Amino acid sequence: MTGEVGTGEAGLSEAELSELIELLRALIRIRSVNPPGDEIIAARYLEQLLADEGIPSTVVEPFPGRGSIVARVRGDGTGGDPLLLLSHLDVVPAEPAGWTHDPFGGDLVDGYVWGRGAIDMKSMVAMEVQVMRRLARAAREAGRDPASDPIPGLRRDVIFCSSADEEAGGWHGADWLVNEHPDWLQAAGALNEAGGISTAYGGVRFYPIQVAEKGFVVYKIHVKGRWGHGSVPTPDNAAVLAAQIVTRLAEPGPVRLTEPIAVSLARAIPHLTARAAGAIRGLMPRPDGPNGPTAPEPSAIEATLRDLCDPVLARTVSAMIHDTVSVGIIAAGVKYNVIPGTAYIEIDCRTLPGTDEAAMREELRRRIGEELWARLEIECEQVGPSVSAPLDGPLYPLLEQVLRDHDAGAVPLPFLAPFATDAKHLARIGVPTYGFSPLRLARDEGLLNLMHADDERVSVEALRFGLPVLWDAVSRFCA
Ligand SMILES: [Zn+2]
Repeated sequence: MTGEVGTGEAGLSEAELSELIELLRALIRIRSVNPPGDEIIAARYLEQLLADEGIPSTVVEPFPGRGSIVARVRGDGTGGDPLLLLSHLDVVPAEPAGWTHDPFGGDLVDGYVWGRGAIDMKSMVAMEVQVMRRLARAAREAGRDPASDPIPGLRRDVIFCSSADEEAGGWHGADWLVNEHPDWLQAAGALNEAGGISTAYGGVRFYPIQVAEKGFVVYKIHVKGRWGHGSVPTPDNAAVLAAQIVTRLAEPGPVRLTEPIAVSLARAIPHLTARAAGAIRGLMPRPDGPNGPTAPEPSAIEATLRDLCDPVLARTVSAMIHDTVSVGIIAAGVKYNVIPGTAYIEIDCRTLPGTDEAAMREELRRRIGEELWARLEIECEQVGPSVSAPLDGPLYPLLEQVLRDHDAGAVPLPFLAPFATDAKHLARIGVPTYGFSPLRLARDEGLLNLMHADDERVSVEALRFGLPVLWDAVSRFCA
């Protein structure tokens, strides 16, 4: 790549692809498994690598071993607020017994880089660093110092931040950075994980771009029964009451289509078979029922999804259209012949945009019913709001366009993640965050089967596609 940023598409040479692959392999070999994290090793590695390109960076370690890195290259300031390239350095654990290759070996075999983090999300870390390298090299080629001078052609600053602890909530990483150094991350928008990765369905390559993510509420439900002797069973057995409550909580609640999902389904329909399109239309609430608007039966929706999708996708889509309740802990009893007088249940609720804690609690009450509700006390242990980034802002339409420009068969869609990422921390300082870590997967590579799974891997071809897409998104937004 030569010349000014934004002057035409920059292809990817074999040498640069090799550089990207070697960077990813090196990152996989750094065991930043959370817990405990030890992200500081990866942060220091990247600090040196960026320094070699002439880019100074700041590494913080607010808790022992929990390192995050922030670096910035400058534009001329005429284009508005910066663009933030966000990522996380930690990975979830991997049990080698289930793997074909060492999960921390970074093997390059059969056209794949294998290892924990290959998808989530060291490939994106590597692509972001490669974008920073390109920017620094453009400056040096123009005789400028990337540490202090504007990058030629760049009108906004570009910030790179790769943080600790995302896999455990980001409290030792992005949360700390947002609290302590919000000015480091203040940006017009951020590109992050969990989007821009192709998902084949019915022969079409959809590219979901994350624009929103669900919130969460953790409750502890205290069930009140009456202690007694096991020889005379009573209806006040707290374990039995808890079981009844759990059964009711496990039933799916009403469907609600949030904006990104409604837009997504409407956009997807023209690309689907008539049968699939008809079934999807059946998921939509009908405004013209004889007794006013009607929503489809929850059980009918589950059946439709099972019919249209493989089980993993069906569960994922279901989570995108429901406030979900997952029972994590049930505890009761002290001895086999003592009727338990108390029990408790801990539940993990994931809330759609528009559902706050009070609304979630009401929904639980509706499911549990008044009679059982009277037997419990409910305690909210944790709450995190959902987040949404605008579809009509300057960044989102550009991301869709870049994907279409690089893949004529691409159908980009907005997407609501059923899980939380570091976007929730950036939302607190008003930075809209988009899941855009572009990869084009082969038809048989299911993303959902790779993330956090055994044999996590990313193909060389996916990376060959990804870096130029990310580069174009950055250079078009910032040039
Ligand atoms: Zn991740």
